[in-house]
Amino acid sequence: MNSKKRKFLEIFGFSCLSFVLSPYKLLYSVTNKIINPNLTEEQKKIMFNEATERPFSSPLNNEKRKGFFHCANCGAKLFASNAKFDSHTGWPSFTESLPGAFKTKIDYSFGMKRVEYHCANCGVHHGHIFDDGSTSTQKRFCSNGLCLIFKPES
Ligand SMILES: [Zn+2]
Repeated sequence: MNSKKRKFLEIFGFSCLSFVLSPYKLLYSVTNKIINPNLTEEQKKIMFNEATERPFSSPLNNEKRKGFFHCANCGAKLFASNAKFDSHTGWPSFTESLPGAFKTKIDYSFGMKRVEYHCANCGVHHGHIFDDGSTSTQKRFCSNGLCLIFKPES
């Protein structure tokens, strides 16, 4: 076999293999897993079982400094402080996320149809998006503070 033919077969074989494995890769990338070993039981309940923290329980409700909110599991940057607003709901609320920060899914629990959002990087649940028109973007990202870590701008 000449080297050109061998090269072709190598590339062809690799392409086929990548194609065959792509659904598994996709499945793997959306499967949520514990990255931060220090997550508390309460954080895990929200992130992996879609629980919701008690309203007005998060210290991040009162966070007004400039900076970014990161995923408490994987550290991905999710929200900028300028998108945060006081929704008076008791949960940290944002008008928009950073581009590509989340993936959404429809949640039909409690007899309601709601849009649930998950970290695009590690897949854990963060909260729900409401279209209640109370913001400039018409969107309200209702977040569980326990899923977020705030890092002030230095
Ligand atoms: Zn994450």
